[in-house]
Order: sequence, then structure tokens, then C-alpha cells
Amino acid sequence: MNFADSEVIAAILTKAGYGIGESAEEADFILINTCAIRDNAEQRVRHRVRELKAMQNRRPGLRIGVLGCMAERLQSRLMTEEENVSFVCGPDAYRRLPEMLAQVRRNEELRIKNEELAAVELSATETYADIEPVRLAGNGISAYISIMRGCQNYCAYCVVPYTRGRERSRDPETIVREARTLFEQGYREVTLLGQNVNSYEWIVESGKWKVGFPELMERVAEIDPRLRVRFATSHPKDLSDKLLEVMAKYPNICRCIHLPVQSGSNRMLKLMNRKYTVEWYLDRVAAIRRAMPDCSITTDVIAGFSTETLEDHEATLDLFRKVRYDYAYMFKYSLREGTYAWKHLADDIAEEEKTRRLNEIIALQGEIALENNRLEVGKEYEVLVEGESHRSKEQLFGRNSQNKVIVFDKGDAVPGTYRRLRVEKCTAATLIGALVQ
Ligand code: SAH
Ligand code: SF4
Repeated sequence: MNFADSEVIAAILTKAGYGIGESAEEADFILINTCAIRDNAEQRVRHRVRELKAMQNRRPGLRIGVLGCMAERLQSRLMTEEENVSFVCGPDAYRRLPEMLAQVRRNEELRIKNEELAAVELSATETYADIEPVRLAGNGISAYISIMRGCQNYCAYCVVPYTRGRERSRDPETIVREARTLFEQGYREVTLLGQNVNSYEWIVESGKWKVGFPELMERVAEIDPRLRVRFATSHPKDLSDKLLEVMAKYPNICRCIHLPVQSGSNRMLKLMNRKYTVEWYLDRVAAIRRAMPDCSITTDVIAGFSTETLEDHEATLDLFRKVRYDYAYMFKYSLREGTYAWKHLADDIAEEEKTRRLNEIIALQGEIALENNRLEVGKEYEVLVEGESHRSKEQLFGRNSQNKVIVFDKGDAVPGTYRRLRVEKCTAATLIGALVQ
């Protein structure tokens, strides 16, 4: 999501006459787009900011701005704590960046304490719908499209509702137009982004009818069968049968659903305010597999949330054994200021115990991923070729519809095209395949 935001920021600043530097060394401004979801994300940003001091000493004109969720969370406090930060700008205020940069340029002092330079007001309506992002990824094949902003689910542990504001959906016409333009430019895959894409909703003609996420997906999928459509993230409480029906109907909607579970214990889920139970979650997994037996399922999980017992932790491991995820993003619980948990729930699992539980989940998921990958050997897939493999210039890599990476000897394959591959070997992370002529 931050990556997609950086592309919007690049568009706003390009229009204002700025260019994107090839390296930090030649930049007049370094803008750091930040995440506040866990403490270690913030610590990495602080480390990066401090590292830049040496460069600023050599080049006194260099200005550093901190953007995104950390700017929103800490506001001008960040400028006091990190003395070489010139300004901060939250996720809904990027249109103000040209004005802020101009103001900073006029100022002789490196360290500016002007409170006005903290642009942190959140908006109920900003979606940057009219801005055509400048694509920074540069592979020309796969792009992100932000379809909504903010979140108001208020999971007890999560800072996002406070840093990204109220949920608001973007006009579907602008989304479809952006996807079509990308396709015409040669892109072959778009990922529709939102904190909870299943609650996307656009009211047309004052309540007469509305566009929900299934309708939006359908419209994007119909642009061209050669355009792959992915999405993230799908909140389990809102995953509808209608969405699964639409997915099953269009082969170009990818067979991959990211369905963050967070915990396998009903007591934890309730305390986390996730608004579903393990039984509901497993029913949704079964519904996905009924509608699309070849669909991969991935997840997010948190180890060591407030009062988590060994029994709760075992329940998470148990759920992992039942669902057999293709991939999982696994985290230690990190207490975030301002959240419900910060106000009302103790962060009472010792750090070493959180680490131990996390490592247990990681080890189990490693085994499951390897076993899942072994089942892929011998199967054939259509793959969108994305580029050179990191290991060898003689090899390319691509992804199948399930979002699994397959590496293969390049032969006559070209990035940006679809090719059929047979899987021949695997590791826990990668499938190794060969072109089927
Ligand atoms: N909107 C998405 C999640 C976005 S945040 C959803 O609800 O599914 C991405 C992931 O970060 C979350 O799924 C969660 O697993 C993790 N996360 C969020 N807050 C956290 C915290 N305080 N500590 C540890 N992990 C956290
Ligand atoms: Fe955070 Fe929950 Fe919103 Fe996801 S749904 S962004 S975890 S509050």
C-alpha cells in the first residue's frame, strides 16, 4: 500500500516540476514513506533517518521529509525527536507536498520547527482518484491500484485506523480507467489494494444502486482476458459467496486469496475484535475450496497477543495444520500507542516467549509450504513471465495464477508474456520448472 502511495506522491511531485533522483547522493529531498504497524518498522525508519546525517553534513542543502503512517502517528513530535527531519506529511495530505517543499526550499535553516510544516490532517474523502500514479516498479508488467483508503474495523492491536483514517472507496470509473490504461501500456497484471477490499462500496445515483467489490472485480476482469487481476487484503468477516462466484467465473482473476486469520483461538479473536470465529473462518476456507479447488490461500498471524496462553497458541498451530496455507506473514505482537489494546489490555507475554511461539509457527509453516510445493511437482501451469531470476541470467521467473514463483531456463521466453511451464523440482519457497513448447 505504501508502494502504491509512493507512486501517487511521485505523480504529484512530477507535476510540480520535480524529478526522481537516480540515487540518494544526487537528491535535494529525500522523502521516506513510512509504516507504523509494528515498532520494528518505525525503528528501521529512525535508523535510516540517522544514517542520512552524514550525507546532510556533506551537503547542507539536503532536506529530509518523513511521510506516511509514522508521520501521522507522531506528527511534529517526530521533527523534535529526529533533529534532521525537515517536515512530516501524513497519508491524506500528499497534495500539499509541492507547497511544503517550496516552503522548505525557501528556508535557510536545515532544521525547521515550523508547526505549519506538519501536514497531518486526515480526510474523510481523499482517494487521489484523479491522479495517475508514476510507476516506480519499472517492470512494466505488474502494477498496484489503490481502490480504497483507510480502515474502521478497529482491531484491538492495530494502529491503521488512527494513521490512515476513515474507510472510503474510490470511484470505480477511475479504477477501471486506470486498469485499462495499464493494459494498453503493456501491463498484464493489476493488484487491487485496500485494507478490507470486501467492504469496497461506491454508491451511484444517491443510493439507487451501488458497486460492491464483486462488481468492481468483474469490471476490471472484463477489460481483457490477458489482464490478470489480484487483490489484497480480504477480511474474513466480509468474504462473500458472491465474490467467490465472480472469481470462479473469470479465469483471469487469480486463484489466490490472502485471508489474514491473526489467531486460531476464539478467545483471542474476540479480544482482538476480529468479528469472526475459527468455525466461521474454516467455513470460508471450505467455501473457497468448493468454488475453486486450485485456489491458494495465504494469511497473516500474530504470536503473543495480550493474555495468549499456550492453549491459544496451540490452537493457532492447529489451525495452520488444518488450513495448510501456501504462504504466511508471521509477526510477534507489538503494542501500538493509541489502540484499544494499548488502553485496555496488558502486553503481558515476555519477549522471549513471543519469539519462541513465533518460531514455532514459522517452523510449522516451513514444513507445510515444502509439502505443498512437493505436490506441485509434475503439474503444468500458465505463468506470466516477469523477469530474470536473481540467481542466474540464463533463467527467468514468473508466477502462476496461485501467485507461486516458478524459475525456469529462459529458452525463447520473453518477460511480459504468458508461457506454459511444467514444475520439475521445488524448495519451500520456489518451484523450478521447464518450458512446455
Ligand atoms: N487490513 C489487513 C491487515 C493490514 S496490517 C487485515 O485486517 O487483514 C498487516 C498485518 O500486520 C495484520 O494482518 C497483522 O497480522 C499485522 N499487525 C497489525 N498490527 C500489528 C501489531 N500491533 N503487532 C503485530 N502485528 C500486527
Ligand atoms: Fe488493522 Fe483490522 Fe483494519 Fe486490518 S482490518 S487494517 S488489522 S484495523
